[in-house]
Amino acid sequence: MIPRVSLAKLPTPLEALPRLSEALGGPKILIKRDDLTGLALGGNKARKLEFTLGDAKARGARTLVTLGAQQSNHCRQTAAAAARYGFDCILVLAGEKPAEAQGNLLLDELFGARVVWTGLRSRNEVVAEVFEQALAAERAPYLIPVGASNAIGVLGYRNAFQEMAAQTGRQDITWLVVASGSGGTQAGLVLGAREANWEGRVLGVSVDLDEAELKEHVAFLANETAGLLDSKVRFEPLDILVNADYRGEGYGRAGDAEWEAIRLFARLEGIVLDPVYSGRAAAAMLGLIRSGFMRRGETVLFWHTGGQPALFAEPYRTGLAQVTARE
Ligand SMILES: *Cc1c(COP(=O)(O)O)cnc(C)c1O
Repeated sequence: MIPRVSLAKLPTPLEALPRLSEALGGPKILIKRDDLTGLALGGNKARKLEFTLGDAKARGARTLVTLGAQQSNHCRQTAAAAARYGFDCILVLAGEKPAEAQGNLLLDELFGARVVWTGLRSRNEVVAEVFEQALAAERAPYLIPVGASNAIGVLGYRNAFQEMAAQTGRQDITWLVVASGSGGTQAGLVLGAREANWEGRVLGVSVDLDEAELKEHVAFLANETAGLLDSKVRFEPLDILVNADYRGEGYGRAGDAEWEAIRLFARLEGIVLDPVYSGRAAAAMLGLIRSGFMRRGETVLFWHTGGQPALFAEPYRTGLAQVTARE
């Protein structure tokens, strides 16, 4: 048995988006609501962290150490999971401490995590130093990689695929669209899909890496997890579908396409997307529907991965205010 703790409220809802489908005149659109996993305002890291914390507990760890961007959702959910299971938590965040904590960072502090800022140094260098210090201080540290994307974390999304397949039953799904950053979410979904001989295709919308890098990384992670499960399934980068055309000005920089997607989901379906991940994945889905690549008669499942607390932090808060004021 692979050790696991309970963090997510499962199964998350699977819903239809009829008004969005109608407005686009395109495929039927379904949504998997992993923004509603329930841990610290929800999001995809809850599923991964169930296995990460299970492993940390089994190994006798007492301090969780992880890293991310200033508005990292992964760090926010790790801080909450640490609080829930009585671990200390150290977060290494990129850059300088901002004058005021907002969004995810405000919550990191609320959950009692200690935040270490990298300044101009590399995150990996600082995280290694923090880990060594915690080890020397006998705090039994456990290192969680960026996005909890390793063989263990990926198990959460391999299971999530099975959960979704049970909910959708016999419906033919042509495309599953999901934001892909550190790759673990997509890796778990492609592994689950392959194990189930699923007919649909899993499209990862890159928020950061270029197409070749992300394909290679997702294939690597899926293989690692298959190895952990003693499964014979193997992936090549060619087996992984990635669209990296919607990265705009780069990671974390929301542009017109993200804001339009956020506005459309809100106005037509009452659903809140985030500016970094689900907003970008939705922008890609809208683009691919409008170009005719995803067509009427098909079914597209949009996997909402959460991330909304960033909307209440700069620069996103001001960006959103400008978009809504424009009309
Ligand atoms: C981390 C994150 C993702 C990307 O998941 P990966 O497993 O890192 O690819 C997508 N959406 C949100 C909101 C996230 O926080």
